Amino acid sequence: TLPDPNLQLERAREQLRTVFGFSEFRGRQPDVLARILEGHSTLAVMPTGAGKSLTYQLPATLLHGTCVVISPLIALMHDQLRSARANGIRAATLTSADADWRDTMDAYRAGDLDLLYVAPERASQPQFCDFLTSSQIALFAIDEAHCVSEWGHDFRPDYRQLLPLMERFPEVPRLALTATADKRTRSDILSQLGIPQEGLVLAGFDRPNITYAIQHRDNPVRQITTLMAEQPGPGIVYAPTRRKVEDLALKLAAATGRLVLPYHAGLPAEERAANQAAFVASEDMVIVATIAFGMGIDKPDVRFVAHAGIPKSIEAYYQETGRAGRDGDPAQATMYWGAGDFAQARQRLAELPEERRSDERTRLDMLASLVETPTCRRAVLLRHFGEKPEKACGNCDNCLSPPKVTDATETARKLLSAAYRTGQSFGFGHLQKVLTGSRDDRIKQRGHDQLSVFGIVEGEEAAMLQPLSRALQARGALVSTEHGGLALGGDAPAILKGEQAVEIVIPPKRSRATKRGDRT
Ligand code: ADP
Ligand code: ZN
Repeated sequence: TLPDPNLQLERAREQLRTVFGFSEFRGRQPDVLARILEGHSTLAVMPTGAGKSLTYQLPATLLHGTCVVISPLIALMHDQLRSARANGIRAATLTSADADWRDTMDAYRAGDLDLLYVAPERASQPQFCDFLTSSQIALFAIDEAHCVSEWGHDFRPDYRQLLPLMERFPEVPRLALTATADKRTRSDILSQLGIPQEGLVLAGFDRPNITYAIQHRDNPVRQITTLMAEQPGPGIVYAPTRRKVEDLALKLAAATGRLVLPYHAGLPAEERAANQAAFVASEDMVIVATIAFGMGIDKPDVRFVAHAGIPKSIEAYYQETGRAGRDGDPAQATMYWGAGDFAQARQRLAELPEERRSDERTRLDMLASLVETPTCRRAVLLRHFGEKPEKACGNCDNCLSPPKVTDATETARKLLSAAYRTGQSFGFGHLQKVLTGSRDDRIKQRGHDQLSVFGIVEGEEAAMLQPLSRALQARGALVSTEHGGLALGGDAPAILKGEQAVEIVIPPKRSRATKRGDRT
């Protein structure tokens, strides 16, 4: 039987000092530890950098038996392994990349391991279950637990095999850990891993030292060069494709004279590892990367994270931007988005299996509302994760320089009509010409100068067309066809019927979130 919980926590505090060298627990670590040491299954949702690893590594050193850690990435495991061993914890990994698996298995059987890291695909192997029975398990820790949820942003089917495995050891407590899980993902994780409702420990999501900004992308090289000039420290630039990664890395290096290296899954393994190592060691390097980069990298002094295209979801955005400023010093997160990003993402929805489409569409809609909001970005983010934030944070672009909001419903109806009447197969440039009454050859050939929508937009209204087209694409009322034309989608019919209003956000001139009032 377990001793009284206070006593347990006292022993844990002692262990924190002697094994880990820290003087105090952080945030909700004691709540998680108390539950685990009492043998209660728990889901810990804590932001990146909050110190989740400690919540299973510490019990692993206190409890009788081995803590089995499920972790999705081999690189991540090896990082964890190094830091655990550096603290004198008896740890091993069991992956396809390990040559010493026989020794590891022997050590487990002999009860000589505090921590055993394994990949989720092991869980479905019956031999693995038999192997686990050969010794005593103290705890199951499931890292990146959002991978168990189809609603989470990184579903991995192997995670579904974990529950049947863990059910073979019903007396062993389970600790699921994740940095990014909205409400729905959280309840999914609880049920998929068999953790009781009251087992949820939710830490605050706010990262007050990060300044958020989201801007329209007109010239990414120039925009990111400006950002780099403002932020001399290390930075991460996320780009959507391998080609864009390499292209941006070259151009940014040339434009700034700084060390800028690429990182993506298509690079040779040695080059990838070398670029990552250089970045981790550097005080001023910028890495341009696909989203393959970042998980498990512990670099506290990242001064900015830039997105050269839209992330997959709000959760992905939060996780990726969360790599900035883990040391608590001011850091910048800026997204540069284009209407085409949303248009393409919406186009890709069609390729998904039917049952996933509506979830993904909702995810995109939520991201679009973050991008399009004239209100506080942080408030939108925090509400997404179920918090009740202040209305304005004072540290995002919209708080620092509030944008103008304009009712564009009438113009939206004109633009949608123009798309409809030209057969939903022309791009924005053509529609703009039709609406503003510009007669070029293509327009004359098609007879588009004879349409009722020809030349019905003029003066100031014409200036609204471009941001309006972006906004309509972001919300899915305009979707691009495979030939680059714009077709009606989403709530376009409601807008045309006048049942739905459209507001657009006009950013202030030279909009830039500036920190510490250092605008010149
Ligand atoms: P997460 O997995 O939640 O992103 P980590 O477990 O990698 O975070 O921890 C982030 C950093 O915080 C690590 O360098 C870790 O050693 C440190 N850390 C964890 N707990 C404490 C603590 N109680 N006091 C000081 N530093 C801590
Ligand atoms: Zn704000």
